[in-house]
Amino acid sequence: MPEIHLPNINFSCTNCGNCCLSYGIPLFENEYENINFMARELKIPNFKLSLNQSKSSKNVSAKYILGLSKNEPCVFLDQARLCNIHKKYGEKLKPKICQLFPYSFTKTPNGYYVYLSFASSAVLYNYGQPLSQQNLADKLADFEEIYPKLNLNWQNSNIVDGVKLDFSHYLNIESEIMVMLNDTSNDLAKKLLACNEFILSLNFQDSLLNPDILSGIDEHYIDNLIIKYFHNLFFTNEDHYDLPFDDFLRDLVNIQKPVIDITDVKLSSALNEKIDTDRSEEILTRYIYCRIFGKLYFGSGFNNLSFVAGLYHLILIILIVKLEFKLVIRSINYNIPDANDLFSILVEIIRNTERKYTILAYSRQTCALLEVLLTCPKRIDRLIKKILID
Ligand code: SF4
Repeated sequence: MPEIHLPNINFSCTNCGNCCLSYGIPLFENEYENINFMARELKIPNFKLSLNQSKSSKNVSAKYILGLSKNEPCVFLDQARLCNIHKKYGEKLKPKICQLFPYSFTKTPNGYYVYLSFASSAVLYNYGQPLSQQNLADKLADFEEIYPKLNLNWQNSNIVDGVKLDFSHYLNIESEIMVMLNDTSNDLAKKLLACNEFILSLNFQDSLLNPDILSGIDEHYIDNLIIKYFHNLFFTNEDHYDLPFDDFLRDLVNIQKPVIDITDVKLSSALNEKIDTDRSEEILTRYIYCRIFGKLYFGSGFNNLSFVAGLYHLILIILIVKLEFKLVIRSINYNIPDANDLFSILVEIIRNTERKYTILAYSRQTCALLEVLLTCPKRIDRLIKKILID
């Protein structure tokens, strides 16, 4: 199957070293001796390998993990943020997964789709050689070696919960959404609102697209609860990979609570003027675009969510990124940085979001919650307007 290139997206490594944080590095058996040898030669302190016992080990053929402590750099990273293995022995002796990163591939009935991780600085800044000019065959071979058993099942995809979605039908829907995202005459909010209109125009018969499904509970209360919990999950609870479902449910039924509008974050005009809106919108749009192209937001690509729940979940994440950006820069209101500094803040928020998004493992309850509460165009419409426009 041929790999499929991602258009208008670039990447060349800048040796930023940011890819070498936070993730455990899976190692193959044949890499074990080499890594041990190089660690001894390079006199690497705190070098430690552990057996690969991760939940995803069925998909990763690696036997060992080179552990990276949370927010700590890899033990092979030097002071100048260069990989000691790469420096002394060359790229080909680095762990396979380091050679692959930030590329990944999604296997579908239509072939492979490439994705680039937004944990990489070059990806975040769209720096380097266009992917359309790159020969990705070696990268794809590395990917297949690392994930030999990864066989995603797209046959069980749903458009909304319980309504089947044929993959070729999905591709037609996706191409319409891509056109809307690429429409340069619209800003981000209008692009997302247009996508939402398009979702509404799809006829799902008796689907869950029902804004009044929890009639009796203030819709704004639910909106705020969703934003609060997802914002916490991404930006506060660093060690959590799922929503605290019981807490959410308790708050959901505790309708006596006052509605606190946590989306109501106003910025001073001085701050607003300093934000490079075009650049901010470009990176957020590119992030959504890449996730959609890589099919890493619904079905087998993400927690088996239905297409609509997955798309709205992706939009929700973009909204909480924007909310977090506003909260962070509002806290530095008295010492206003320049436009580049503000953009760097957004870049770091997206980098952290990507790290979290990649390792999220939602329970079945959380997925059900998303199908019921999030599959609601009116809710998404309100939240887009509230967070991106107000
Ligand atoms: S082995 Fe090298 S490339 Fe891989 S994470 Fe460590 S420093 Fe980075």
